[in-house]
Amino acid sequence: MGAIVAIVGRPNVGKSTFFNRLIQRREAIVDAVSGVTRDRHYGKSDWNGKEFSLIDTGGYVLGSDDVFEKEIDKQVELAIDEADAIIFMVDVESGVTGMDEDVAKLLRRVDKPVFLAINKVDNAQREADAVEFYALGLGEYYTLSSINGSGTGELLDALVEVLPEAQDTDDDLPRFAVVGRPNAGKSSFINALIGEERYIVTDIAGTTRDSIDTKYNRFGFEFNLVDTAGIRRKAKVKEDLEFYSVMRSVRAIEHCDVCILLLDATRGFDGQVQNIFWLAQRNHKGIVILVNKWDLVEKETNSVRDYEKRIREAMEPFVDVPILFISVLNKQRIFKAIETAVEVCKNRSKKIVTRKLNDIMLPIIENRPPPGYKGKYVKIKFCTQLPTPYPQFAFFCNLPQYVREPYKRFLENQLRKEFDFTGVPMTVFMRKK
Ligand code: GDP
Ligand code: GDP
Repeated sequence: MGAIVAIVGRPNVGKSTFFNRLIQRREAIVDAVSGVTRDRHYGKSDWNGKEFSLIDTGGYVLGSDDVFEKEIDKQVELAIDEADAIIFMVDVESGVTGMDEDVAKLLRRVDKPVFLAINKVDNAQREADAVEFYALGLGEYYTLSSINGSGTGELLDALVEVLPEAQDTDDDLPRFAVVGRPNAGKSSFINALIGEERYIVTDIAGTTRDSIDTKYNRFGFEFNLVDTAGIRRKAKVKEDLEFYSVMRSVRAIEHCDVCILLLDATRGFDGQVQNIFWLAQRNHKGIVILVNKWDLVEKETNSVRDYEKRIREAMEPFVDVPILFISVLNKQRIFKAIETAVEVCKNRSKKIVTRKLNDIMLPIIENRPPPGYKGKYVKIKFCTQLPTPYPQFAFFCNLPQYVREPYKRFLENQLRKEFDFTGVPMTVFMRKK
């Protein structure tokens, strides 16, 4: 699980330029592999071997500048709540502005690491101009130029230094996060799940923030629920804004093994739900989809089948995901939902012994080898599952660069068929042998 870093600051200071610089190299690779549309405001980066998620909070501001002014307090507050560290970006060209002072005032009160990043310091003269930002009362600052990259290294050195180490819980219990749009029924689901507080076994304290995992024992299963504190806290921000649900989802998804994605049956698998689905997929988390409020849907013979088909079309190409139709209100299939999440969790950590993997996969490959390329013959010699927290398979062959996406997808589908990885994103890649 990675740490979360939020970039805050008023418009036009260079947040997205900086964000893009940090995530670009990796995103290009991820996009080429997955082919999914990319969220321009959330991405993964790493520095000195430490991985973290980066959120450009400004990217989620809708509307004009004066809307921004009203929203900025809430934005910064949420960043403070959800992130492990905050980069506060200002612009040396414009100097200290009133809006900068407002943000600084909020940030002076937090006990999380805050990095004041003075951007657009493209030359020595501007380096001297930067001193005026001491007036913000945030102490040391970092000068940088997001456009040419100078200074970003120093900032990142300091940043990764303070990020919490990947947090190991001291048990092997599955960690479930209940995610979805506002009003999907998440709180109701959790309440139905845990009944009263008496089902809580322990609270495991997070390092730099309040409790993340809460251990439950229910229906004969023990599991940790991730970030229920956040869900309980949500009365504070009830707005149906994409930013809030994305920010909350990011945090919960980062810290779980399986995402239980709830959607409101009367609203469907819409764009925002797809975005959350995609976040979970990109983070290689197990996924269970619960179509909630099924009691509200007028049913005909093929309702379930048709509804499910529509969702699966929207999930392409990752369609091997359980979809359950539930009603939290009527307590329908809630037990089944948890049971399914437990199964998905097991699939995610499943390890196939190399010998068995080859015994099954090599004959399949022999029957349908990768297509040749420019008269060259591609020969896959053996395969192995890597010892990673989620399924990754390496196929060794003479000409890995000639094996195309469709064939990798074929291999993935065969792996799914033979070994059952339902609900789990997997990676298949070719290596030179
Ligand atoms: P955001 O609204 O904070 O996300 O700001 P943008 O990243 O969209 O940048 C706003 C403008 O500042 C754009 O025209 C960028 O090209 C420019 N900009 C960003 N970083 C730098 C920099 O380091 N130096 C200079 N001179 N301009 C920059
Ligand atoms: P959250 O914002 O995702 O936590 O959603 P809530 O749990 O607050 O639920 C939103 C609304 O949907 C509440 O009025 C619930 O009573 C209602 N609701 C939740 N589950 C169901 C369900 O299965 N059927 C129906 N009809 N309503 C539900």
